[in-house]
Amino acid sequence: MKTVETDLLIVGGGVAGSALACALRDSGYWVVLVEQRTGRLDTARGDHLQPCTVDALARWGVLPRFYERGAGRRLGHEFRSQTGESLLRADYSELPIPHPYFLVYDHDLISETFLDLASEGSNFDLFRPAVARDFKVVEGRIRSLKIRADGEDVLIKPHIVVGADGSNSIVRSALDFATFEHAYHHPVVVLLSPRPTRLVPDNYFFRYSGPDGVLGIHQRMDGQIKITLPIGAEGIPWWKKSSKEDRACALGRRADILKGCDSTVAGFYAARMIRAVDNVSGNVVLVGDAAHSIHPARGQGLNMGIANLQQLIDCLPDVAEVSRAEKVRQALLHYQGQLRPLLDRTINRHHQAATEMDVDMGAGTEGAALICKHNQKIREINARPELRRMHLLEVTGYPFGAPSEAEPDYLA
Ligand SMILES: Cc1cc2nc3c(=O)[nH]c(=O)nc-3n(C[C@H](O)[C@H](O)[C@H](O)COP(=O)(O)OP(=O)(O)OC[C@H]3O[C@@H](n4cnc5c(N)ncnc54)[C@H](O)[C@@H]3O)c2cc1C
Repeated sequence: MKTVETDLLIVGGGVAGSALACALRDSGYWVVLVEQRTGRLDTARGDHLQPCTVDALARWGVLPRFYERGAGRRLGHEFRSQTGESLLRADYSELPIPHPYFLVYDHDLISETFLDLASEGSNFDLFRPAVARDFKVVEGRIRSLKIRADGEDVLIKPHIVVGADGSNSIVRSALDFATFEHAYHHPVVVLLSPRPTRLVPDNYFFRYSGPDGVLGIHQRMDGQIKITLPIGAEGIPWWKKSSKEDRACALGRRADILKGCDSTVAGFYAARMIRAVDNVSGNVVLVGDAAHSIHPARGQGLNMGIANLQQLIDCLPDVAEVSRAEKVRQALLHYQGQLRPLLDRTINRHHQAATEMDVDMGAGTEGAALICKHNQKIREINARPELRRMHLLEVTGYPFGAPSEAEPDYLA
């Protein structure tokens, strides 16, 4: 059996794991990544990188590579009533932040780009496809992982293990991390459609809300739009069987602008929150959905998986000390302590937004009244400068203030 010793073992090459491998290229740490997939990730997930995530890409020196591969920019967003009345319209240039825009890049391309960039480094091994399941855990630390790759058995002996293996994380299970879980009532359906020509500007995100419910419209790299909405009493079977006309009608009830649109169903997602109570244990740290998988209501799960990585890197022991178990334990605990205030706040705010989106709809129901109240709240945010600024800071990933104003310990 081949034995590979490494400083960091990353399990999972979705956006979180691949971004970490990319950020660590040429850092001096030896990095091994194990990914079970052969194909690409599902394109219908997060594809808008927040300004704070763009800042991380710029610091890692890889931002130009995303533009070379066709990334676009989203400059603002507008919340509208179902008839198109503007409730709140904001441009990110209102904030003093280094990159006042979202980077628009298809989900399935994000991890492929990060992995390509990581592979350009001199200290990186990628095992793909290879499934991680055979861990040896001694005294609360993962000492080794046995995999089968390219027809041979490989024993990987890491100093640090990063669980980046998504919401059903096997790394999380291997160390018995406790989790908090919450299931929302309504699963989410994602549809793709050509962009209606009346939907302007073409570099904004739109959210429509009215008596028949809420939906979000992301603009994609390919000129299409991605429509995300919670499924109501009609249920998943209805969407599966629905004709183009059925869908146009259902979407048109929620947003006038989508009347007659030609959509296809891209996927269904059980809406649930799974949060590891601790992010670290022994020599293991969880990142991305393995640590916190959240409802897609505010479209930030992807970003939470990338934006915190620089904090983790900054906390790692020096390369010369990474083999010392106590140094690793202290470093990971320090990371968890730094991360907690931001994480707690972000997850709580997500839960609030998810709950607002998760109401039962239908004429005359309590749900319609709630949406009406919610729209009123959005108008108020728009009208009051301090609320509007807070809203924009949260959306762009700087809930504690723009980098020049934030608390020093929040800054990565
Ligand atoms: C409908 C929907 C819409 C969303 N919209 C947005 C949005 O607009 N904005 C946003 O920011 N986020 C959004 N998200 C969330 C975002 O897509 C996720 O938070 C993010 O992709 C999670 O990335 P990850 O790398 O942590 O996990 P994953 O993408 O799940 O990657 C985990 C990887 O680990 C691999 N793996 C798993 N187990 C093993 C194993 N045992 N061995 C080896 N490899 C393994 C998997 O193959 C996979 O490649 C959305 C999510 C959904 C469901």
